[in-house]
Amino acid sequence: MTDATMLDQALTRLDDAAAHLNLDGDVLEKLKYPRETTKVRLMIRMDDGSRKSFMAWRCRYDDTRGPTKGGIRFHPESTIEEVETLAFWMTMKCAVMNLPYGGGKGAVRVDPHSLSKAELERLSRAYMQAFSKIVGPDRDIPAPDVYTNSMIMGWMADEYASIVGQSTPAVITGKPIALGGSLGRDDATARGGYYLVRNLASELGLTPGARVAIQGFGNAGQHIASLLAADGYKIVAVSDSRGAIHSEAGLDVAKLLASKKSGSVVSLAGSDGIQAIDADAITAVDCEILVPAALEDLIHKDNAAAIKARVILELANGPITPEADLILAEKNVVVLPDILANAGGVTVSYFEWVQNRQGFYWTAEEVRSRLQETMDREGRAVWNLAQHRGITVRSAAYVHALSRVAGAIEAHGTQS
Ligand code: GLU
Repeated sequence: MTDATMLDQALTRLDDAAAHLNLDGDVLEKLKYPRETTKVRLMIRMDDGSRKSFMAWRCRYDDTRGPTKGGIRFHPESTIEEVETLAFWMTMKCAVMNLPYGGGKGAVRVDPHSLSKAELERLSRAYMQAFSKIVGPDRDIPAPDVYTNSMIMGWMADEYASIVGQSTPAVITGKPIALGGSLGRDDATARGGYYLVRNLASELGLTPGARVAIQGFGNAGQHIASLLAADGYKIVAVSDSRGAIHSEAGLDVAKLLASKKSGSVVSLAGSDGIQAIDADAITAVDCEILVPAALEDLIHKDNAAAIKARVILELANGPITPEADLILAEKNVVVLPDILANAGGVTVSYFEWVQNRQGFYWTAEEVRSRLQETMDREGRAVWNLAQHRGITVRSAAYVHALSRVAGAIEAHGTQS
């Protein structure tokens, strides 16, 4: 897929949902384009004394339902089109979960692994300096995304506090606990997906012992492995950026986590009956649940037909192209779509923002039980809608989200 068509492709899901809702044309017109995208070239001093520049963006896609919300990605292949598409997905995701937010996203085109810790800190602070007029606790609230983490959020929160002259923790979520982060934010993306699977397990025909393949072993991939394994699911294949491994007997999650800590899961190949497989082969592994947990466009028209899983849990954003969706629907593969399946992350971000504004902090149990309650409620509503209308779970999630956004657009009146 070329970048120019990425947002167009994403918007086909909106058209599909609009057709089920008998929507006013004004609503679609408002959601077809990002409200604003700001582009800045960040300059930082490298450790060797040289100066280097990096392209950076922040998109506020739609703020009809509240301040825009969404992560910041540090990735060498980020583009403006990707940022805008991800910001559109955030708009839909916050609406699916009924969070009082619109959608946004940011990125820096950089390979963060090529930077020292000091350089990474300077880059993170430079991002906040450049976008300090765009973000704000009631305007636009960033969070972590691919290759960013709580440490980076902490530097950004600190930078924002020094720019505005007062501590403002609610400007960014996913912070370290010491700076106003929430308990339970770290594994929230995976945990939301886990609650969704657990709540729908009997409808999905899943029983403990079901086999799982996980593509991508970052924050979401690692936590979903632990959560599902603890419930008796068998993790049979895992991949990361260096390759993939497979074991019919099941992989030991503690060993997976340890190997990842010291480099890559591929280092386990060769022991305990574990085989190295081609990284691309992970999507075709024989299993019941496939979990894409990395980047967009993993499953496309050329590899969708070979999928053996019955359920796909999209912890990544946009891992299945619209063409592949059609092939999977034909095969009766149930896709639990990104805007629902990975919404646990932004849901606990919302809880963090609420705690920051109240100055009153919740226990891990409170965070988890509220996440579960939200996930069960919205997941069940989307599932029932899909059954009732005979549409895919993805279409149902878009219908569910779009009816909320459309209601808010109408409520704002005709002059906005
Ligand atoms: N980056 C995450 C996502 O794509 C979390 C966003 C947030 O917490 O605001 O949903």
